[in-house]
Amino acid sequence: MRLDLDPPIHSFDDGTLPIVRMRNEAETVKFCQRTHDELEIESVVIPMGGKGVFWNTLCVSSQIGCARGCTFCQTARMGLIRNLTVDEIIGQVAAANAAFEAQVRNVVFMGMGEPLDNYENVVESIEILHRDKRFEIARRRITVSTVGHCEGIRKLASLNYRRLGLAISLNAPNDEIRDQIMPINRRSPMAELREAIASYPVRAGGHILIEYVMLAGVNDTLEHARELAAYLKGLPTCVNLIPWNPCEGLDHKTPSDETIDTFQRELMSLGQMTFRRRTKGRGAMGACGQLGNLALKRLKHR
Ligand code: SF4
Repeated sequence: MRLDLDPPIHSFDDGTLPIVRMRNEAETVKFCQRTHDELEIESVVIPMGGKGVFWNTLCVSSQIGCARGCTFCQTARMGLIRNLTVDEIIGQVAAANAAFEAQVRNVVFMGMGEPLDNYENVVESIEILHRDKRFEIARRRITVSTVGHCEGIRKLASLNYRRLGLAISLNAPNDEIRDQIMPINRRSPMAELREAIASYPVRAGGHILIEYVMLAGVNDTLEHARELAAYLKGLPTCVNLIPWNPCEGLDHKTPSDETIDTFQRELMSLGQMTFRRRTKGRGAMGACGQLGNLALKRLKHR
């Protein structure tokens, strides 16, 4: 079975994979590159800046599909097709630099896949993005986002990259809820995850980002906010509240703005640094948890 292959809309003569599709909403752009085995890599460009200074944040993928099965995530429905190579990871940054006006200055591993399931290639890519003259992206401008892969966090911590950003996709205030929406929690419960987070070296004044996708009726009550604050107490963290982005075929709902505001106020009143993400890219299917092409899933069985 083959996908209908789109012709390239951007080709590059340095070996960077061609861009075959782009979709944008406002200024946020999701683009797809075609791989040599006719799969697709998805990345999202998020323009930043103002007052005459502009740059891009690039959300990169580390795998095609993902094995982790989070219930709120479109990528999970593809299953894992394969890991991306180092060239395919850094090639996303090269393509964005060549195809868009502003340069990529921030890289977040928050696209398709669990980066720490592809540990070696992700770490090598970070080194290249940091040291290679084509990129020269400071480590403090690179963030690895993980589902809570404790062994991977410990390995990353042992590199002692004090300035490399770490984000934890937590999404639940207790094991009971996390077990239901994130299968990894059944093997690595929240107490173990907390120890792994505590072991991560954070620069003075820095923090670990805690991503919390808000799901109506699942993890959004005042009691959940209190449990979350208690769990994070004593850790250098900042909570990023992310209203769930609807995806066809997924059985969740987004809480109201009022519910999210109340949740945020409660966390802040308990001393927990918190901000709310204003969702960019929802219409382009390029927002958090929305990446993935289900047609590719069929190619697994080729
Ligand atoms: S949220 Fe992240 S780890 Fe979970 S299934 Fe989606 S891509 Fe994988």
